[in-house]
Amino acid sequence: MDNQNKQSTSPQGGTQGNRGNKNKMPRFNLSWIYLIIAVALGYLFFAGGDMQSAGTASKNVTYTVFKQYVEQGYANKVVASKDEGTVKMYVKPEHIRDVFQQGVEQTGKQPFVLAEIPSADKLDEFISAQQELGNFKGELSYKRTNDTFMQVFWNIFPLLLIIVVWIFIMRRMSGNGGVGGMGGIFNVGRSRAQLVEKGSENESKVTFKDVAGQASAKQEVQEIVEFLKNPTKFTDLGGKIPKGALLVGPPGTGKTLLAKAVAGEADVPFFSMSGSDFVEMFVGVGASRVRDLFRQAKEKAPCIIFIDEIDAVGRARSRNAMMGGNDERESTLNQLLTEMDGFGTNSGVIIMAATNRADILDKALLRAGRFDRQIHVDLPDLNERKAVFKVHLRPIKVDSSLDVDLLARQTPGFSGADIANVCNEAALIAARHGKQAVTKEDFLAAVDRIVGGLEKKTKVMTEEEKRTIALHEAGHATISWNLQYANPLIKVTIVPRGRALGAAWYLPEERQITTREQMLDEMCATLGGRAAEELFTGHISSGAMNDLERVTKQAYGMIAYMGMSEALPNLCYYSNDEYSWQRPYSEATAELIDKEVKRMIAEQYERAKQLLMEKRDGHKALADLLVEREVIFAEDVEKIFGKRPWISRTEELLEAQAEDENTETINEQQAEQQEQ
Ligand code: ADP
Ligand code: ZN
Repeated sequence: MDNQNKQSTSPQGGTQGNRGNKNKMPRFNLSWIYLIIAVALGYLFFAGGDMQSAGTASKNVTYTVFKQYVEQGYANKVVASKDEGTVKMYVKPEHIRDVFQQGVEQTGKQPFVLAEIPSADKLDEFISAQQELGNFKGELSYKRTNDTFMQVFWNIFPLLLIIVVWIFIMRRMSGNGGVGGMGGIFNVGRSRAQLVEKGSENESKVTFKDVAGQASAKQEVQEIVEFLKNPTKFTDLGGKIPKGALLVGPPGTGKTLLAKAVAGEADVPFFSMSGSDFVEMFVGVGASRVRDLFRQAKEKAPCIIFIDEIDAVGRARSRNAMMGGNDERESTLNQLLTEMDGFGTNSGVIIMAATNRADILDKALLRAGRFDRQIHVDLPDLNERKAVFKVHLRPIKVDSSLDVDLLARQTPGFSGADIANVCNEAALIAARHGKQAVTKEDFLAAVDRIVGGLEKKTKVMTEEEKRTIALHEAGHATISWNLQYANPLIKVTIVPRGRALGAAWYLPEERQITTREQMLDEMCATLGGRAAEELFTGHISSGAMNDLERVTKQAYGMIAYMGMSEALPNLCYYSNDEYSWQRPYSEATAELIDKEVKRMIAEQYERAKQLLMEKRDGHKALADLLVEREVIFAEDVEKIFGKRPWISRTEELLEAQAEDENTETINEQQAEQQEQ
């Protein structure tokens, strides 16, 4: 997420005191362990011939019986061990059944009998005699048992293996090796928060100036800044300051950035940690990390604790006893709640947490006195995107022709992080082409790349495939152009990109509310691809799967959640309870929902086909143009179908904005003059 800040802060892990304490011991990783196990197994397998490996039968007999066997000529090989006072006689294959009463399949290839010998000399004599008599044709050999090294090795090897595995696990647990040597075991319970403070090596002063847009969020956190700077102003009046603020919003919208900016503005230390850092596989670790984090924070008060992704610990505790729940997470959460209650309101520690799903958080967390403030950080709208672009264009050498308005318009739905990414990518693209400054084309290429993935010019396609894709995309374009509420088109391409074979790009209207008509028009346009395929190629293809998935989800949403069908008016079956597998409606309603979804999609599909038949000439012209040029823009579509008679909301907004633009620039100029 925070691709910009990474450069200025040191990598995660390691409590503050341990930073820079580099690890001298070799790093253990999984391949080590695999190697050791492989060697051990290999040894067992190859060197194990002598051992009683599985599948080789053996039998303990008396010396007398052993002598009888040799006299009867059963012996293949005789191996004596002087130290142990034993003798091993390997049995000839043809006599295995006589000795073991079993076939070779059961006894293995080299079964043997083991006997105690009275003395080595006696054995020697006996064997020599048998050799002379011709009962034994093999050799008598002596085994040296002074491979004590191997014996010792085999005794301690399992122990060694366990220790190695243990150290390895401890290391994993205690982070990325920030903690040296044996300390790892004892530091499990320490918090791994990263501290940014004045004079620390990763000091990076982020202020509100670096956070573009988000005006309302900034205003809300402003109060926190005031408090941290000047607590008495509030406490003298008997006011209480919130202990925590919860930043709610999609990833990459600048929640971390905002929290950092609060710390930067108030000039206080900033502890940052991710919710998932608390959660470990060992019971009790999370809770003790929470305790440690608060202890550290209190020492540095006034300060800010920032917990990213708090849902990792703060998820609602399961009510369902059958599921068992996650005890470790719950005890971590309990500890967090206790700590938040434990420190006084005016101790100067403020907790900010971020999540993108406030609805799954435990209610206890959101209670008054804890995270009682929710600050919404939304995806930036058109103007905010412009502001974010301006922030991230600061360090980039841009071509004078670059139009920030255009960039903002071309990036609907982008988060702040995406925009930062676009700027970076554009600079890289320009550098790759050896340009002096980053141009508009580089930015547009970067946007395309981030939305759709890398262009795959090399993907081989037959003429027919290309034609089908062109017909499909032209279908989307034709319909969206001719429906009032469908999103305005920007461009259509049949250049494969990422996993998509072609794409129609729209400017989503950034509406605050969406009407049923708007949704249906969009659904119709999405179905336009498949409808065109069916009408003009006679086949339907797999290329529409994505479209269908979207349409189906949308239809279910409209019917089950938004109460938008005649058969199920004004009903919302949305449930944010993750643990409930029960549908909040009856079987009959489920069937009705399915039926309504099918009906809605079928209707829109018919509508799409009808419209395509009406505009078939225009559609064909569009498809031909696409095959020829591969990329076409809104202007080309306009030439074919004529100007759209409806003015889009975005255009409306832009016009309204253009009027007060003048006043804005004047203000900006004044501000700049003041800075100088
Ligand atoms: P979140 O915590 O919401 O997932 P981050 O705060 O980590 O998002 O944002 C990631 C990066 O995106 C930031 O470091 C910054 O470069 C950029 N960014 C996000 N929102 C904004 C914004 N409003 N203004 C400027 N930059 C932003
Ligand atoms: Zn499509």
